[in-house]
Amino acid sequence: MMKTFLCLLLALSLLLGGVALAENATAAPLAALTPSPTLQMEPAPARPQQPTPEPAATEMATPVPSPTQTPYPTPTPRAAATATPEVTAVPETTATPEAAAPETSATPEAAGETSPAPEGIFDRLPADMPTVPPLPTREPGRLTGVKIGIDPGHQAQGNSDQEAVAPGSSETKAKVSSGTYGRFTGVPEYEVNLAVSLKLREALEALGCEVYMTRETNDVDISNQERAIMMNELGVDLVLRIHCNGSTNESAQGIGLYIRATGTNADECMRAAEALLPAMVEATGAESDGIFRRDSYTGLNWSEVPSILVEMGFMTNEEEDYKLNDPAYQDQLVAGMVEGVCAYMGR
Ligand SMILES: [Zn+2]
Repeated sequence: MMKTFLCLLLALSLLLGGVALAENATAAPLAALTPSPTLQMEPAPARPQQPTPEPAATEMATPVPSPTQTPYPTPTPRAAATATPEVTAVPETTATPEAAAPETSATPEAAGETSPAPEGIFDRLPADMPTVPPLPTREPGRLTGVKIGIDPGHQAQGNSDQEAVAPGSSETKAKVSSGTYGRFTGVPEYEVNLAVSLKLREALEALGCEVYMTRETNDVDISNQERAIMMNELGVDLVLRIHCNGSTNESAQGIGLYIRATGTNADECMRAAEALLPAMVEATGAESDGIFRRDSYTGLNWSEVPSILVEMGFMTNEEEDYKLNDPAYQDQLVAGMVEGVCAYMGR
């Protein structure tokens, strides 16, 4: 009779042990029901069921309220199982990293501090957010030792004085123009070029890059030839000439890169452009207008270092005009160029 009762008790306690493992909230009251003699009779079975405790120690950030743990100090197997409810809770959260991520990334500030920026991070940034892209903070030394020249195209007042379109050439062009303008926003190109260029400098410098600008304000008078020579003397690894395009065809859109067709750096320019274009298209979702080889641009012809004229989009296209003036889209353009530079430099 007593034996049967003990067997029943054992069976019951085993059952309760299972429940306690599965649902730690009820573990404490159930464990209280089992008298200590039966606990000593089943030392082995519970141990193998314990999940490995390491994840609990490292990944459980939220402390579990534990008054229910302390009343059972006896080192019996069940007590061991119930004393570590964190362990049973851990697999639920750690088994699904996807579930954990959205919780933290819901607050952009927290995500920026704690986790590396996912690739699509810019899509989720509010448009009015300060323009420090999370991307560069990811790998601060990624572009250490790299020298990049940025030439924000045009200036507030054009200069129609002439200069040679290429070294030794008798053909001349205006020193610099004021560029195109947004047909829908009314914003002049030189303003957009400078805004994006300043963001680009910030993003590149955050990666340890050495950055040189041909201009930092709109009120300058620097010819295209002078801009190229400036970068030659600095010996930069690559010049990005930042521009916006314009067309009589309002439907024309997309990102286009212009490089010199001939000359010592022509092939190197193509290699850089081939790294830059796909990165920019991926970061922005814009169309690719392609890579164009031309020997008609003064700023490219005078360049003795690899140089790319980046047409970021068409200000004569309604959608792109608005986008080019959108700080969030400008961040995407910058992110694409940064990735392109990294790809070209093998970083
Ligand atoms: Zn331009």
